Amino acid sequence: MGEFELIRRYFFPIAEAGNTSAVLLGPGDDCAIQRIEPGRDLVFSVDALVEGVHFPHHYDPEKLGWRSLAVAASDLAAMGADPVCFTLALTLPDADPDWLHAYASGLASAASCFGLSLAGGDTTRGPLMLSLQVHGTVPRGQAIRRSGAQVGDYVCVSGTLGEAGAALNYLESNNPQADEQAVLARYHYPEPRLRLGAALRGSVSAAVDISDGLIADLGHLLEASGVAACIDVAKLPLSAALKRLVGENAVNLALNAGDDYELCITISPREWGSLSEDIRSRLTIIGEVKPGDGLVINDDGQSRAPGAGGYDHFRT
Ligand code: ADP
Ligand code: MG
Repeated sequence: MGEFELIRRYFFPIAEAGNTSAVLLGPGDDCAIQRIEPGRDLVFSVDALVEGVHFPHHYDPEKLGWRSLAVAASDLAAMGADPVCFTLALTLPDADPDWLHAYASGLASAASCFGLSLAGGDTTRGPLMLSLQVHGTVPRGQAIRRSGAQVGDYVCVSGTLGEAGAALNYLESNNPQADEQAVLARYHYPEPRLRLGAALRGSVSAAVDISDGLIADLGHLLEASGVAACIDVAKLPLSAALKRLVGENAVNLALNAGDDYELCITISPREWGSLSEDIRSRLTIIGEVKPGDGLVINDDGQSRAPGAGGYDHFRT
């Protein structure tokens, strides 16, 4: 199978996966063409995934297909962007048809789920590495940045935290139990919060997606905004499965572990009050923005800085 047959067979079909009306020209020419509607801004980001660094060696290619697009799309969700299309630069050690079929099928599922069509890419031989650039759009000026948090805003997170981190313990498990399967699904099939991010445009003051852990990513948001925050350990959203699996260490994982791809946002109490019931039900208020810098963690009446007092390991 030659390079072009490979691309045509496995990747061209994914050009039909998303909303194709904005992609005037998909893969096959020297460039793709995306039409930007008048009055909208293009929002784009690239993510590289290296075998052994961002995913384990011999990782299931179908899961890798989903995950590689999900983690890239999560950045669009954090900006409140409506997804449009993506490009894929793929470096492969060899053209293994089974691997390619499985990778392309995971990628195609994610692409149609997220509404992202494959607009083009590049295919080369070398150590396994994937680079995905995602494109979205927002009404002009409405992209959500990290830098807008204001003193007095609530700090909120979507979904539940810590499960993908717990899954690292069960990646090698041959016969995972129900709770283990639940947390493994969070690691293998992350769901970028694209609809939520877009729905929060115009309401929230700042947002970041949680890829490296709540403390790390909220820290980036606070630094960009020039503010501090306190969060309350008792308010962290933890799933029942996580609590059953790791007990008290659930808090550790929720604060420190990455790979959840939930959103962390800040929002004024007034805007919070104007959110629909449906959107509020997808968010949990975990703290408040304060003047100054840094993050303070309230734990059972005690205040501590992140990292101090035992939030230093992921082991369960
Ligand atoms: P060029 O040499 O002009 O950059 P290529 O030979 O690299 O073009 O690619 C030919 C066409 O196939 C281009 O339209 C490119 O976007 C597409 N393509 C290459 N690799 C991929 C891929 N992995 N996924 C989707 N499209 C791809
Ligand atoms: Mg060319």
